[in-house]
Amino acid sequence: MIAGLGDSGLLTAIRLARSADVVGISAQPALVSGQELGVRLTRPQEWARDYLVPFDRYRALDRVRTVQATLTGVDLAGRVIHARQPDGSEVTEPYDSLVISTGVRNGFWRRAAMASPAQVRAEITAAHDRLAEGTSIMVIGGGAAAVSAAANLAAQWPDKRVDLYFPHDRPLLEHHPRTWEHLQRRLIRLGVGLHPDHRAEVPDGFECDAITDGEVRWSGGQPPARADAVLWAIGRVRPNTEWLPRDLLDQDGFVVVTPELRVPGYRGVFAIGDVAATDPLRSSARNRADGVLAHNILAEPDGRPLRSYRPPRRRWGSVIGIQPDGVEVFAPGGRPFRIPAWPTRRVLMPWIVRRGIYRGVRTNQPLG
Ligand SMILES: Cc1cc2nc3c(=O)[nH]c(=O)nc-3n(C[C@H](O)[C@H](O)[C@H](O)COP(=O)(O)OP(=O)(O)OC[C@H]3O[C@@H](n4cnc5c(N)ncnc54)[C@H](O)[C@@H]3O)c2cc1C
Repeated sequence: MIAGLGDSGLLTAIRLARSADVVGISAQPALVSGQELGVRLTRPQEWARDYLVPFDRYRALDRVRTVQATLTGVDLAGRVIHARQPDGSEVTEPYDSLVISTGVRNGFWRRAAMASPAQVRAEITAAHDRLAEGTSIMVIGGGAAAVSAAANLAAQWPDKRVDLYFPHDRPLLEHHPRTWEHLQRRLIRLGVGLHPDHRAEVPDGFECDAITDGEVRWSGGQPPARADAVLWAIGRVRPNTEWLPRDLLDQDGFVVVTPELRVPGYRGVFAIGDVAATDPLRSSARNRADGVLAHNILAEPDGRPLRSYRPPRRRWGSVIGIQPDGVEVFAPGGRPFRIPAWPTRRVLMPWIVRRGIYRGVRTNQPLG
């Protein structure tokens, strides 16, 4: 039973599909990835091809039963999951092994709420249209989502004023400093205004889950700033764990796991992805721990040795996604590795990602 079919739940299901009866439960009937915010906002068609993918597009999921439902609870002793379907009816699903992979909520681009494909499409298009209006955009935040958004917005709309406000002397504190040194040059070339040491005051009751406009105040006392569109990417992540018993969670609400990705005290229960408290960066999705997890799920009942997930100390990977000149992937040591545009389009995406990682994806045109 895979509870939450996002980036890491999907990959775990794909890995297990040949060896086990797999059921996946997810609030949406498609992968709605949290990756590559900047590309999603500026080039939604292109983003959707790989990051908004109905489950029936994945060949490996032909063997997996997917259920669109919101998880509401789990009976760990009785080994059943409780969930609610879109028509309001309750479902209970028994399991032998359970994977908790419900991720986190973060801004308007990562929600856990039930949504139809049409609603997901409408939200993505509305955010793009909103940013396309007006002449100035302010991006607030110091993580990869904020840097990705600022770079892509400035590249897409060179005539707009794009400013990035971040709370420390540099953004990307969880990456190696070289990553920002490199990306800073690109942002300056793109004309992005960089504003270090700006911590925004969040309006009372505002969940940072919408694009706003007007004035933003700073807790450091700097003069307020304003823009036609304000994008809040301040890392207010909330784990999607309301459906789980409290004793599975750490003090911040993430699922406690051992290095083998097991939930201590509950045989057959595992967690992966942004919801799993594997390490301070909760990095098991990006570092492809689905391989370790699939091995352990199959090995545990047979008493075979389990494998451990070993997290790197720093974030790595792509920050601003695929650009007209290719894609840059930053190593944990901060050095960029650039794959030019042609091999990105002709080799990396079709062969390594769609064929290799996802084991075959049928043609996908989710935005019509
Ligand atoms: C192959 C790969 C490459 C990556 N590359 C990068 C990179 O280059 N740079 C980088 O910074 N990061 C990268 N990442 C990491 C990525 O940004 C996130 O860490 C990842 O999206 C988190 O995945 P997740 O499965 O934990 O959560 P999500 O993808 O958010 O999945 C959670 C799922 O659970 C569902 N859900 C939640 N609550 C409920 C409920 N109550 N009932 C039913 N369903 C529910 C949600 O709707 C969602 O579908 C990568 C990840 C992968 C897998």
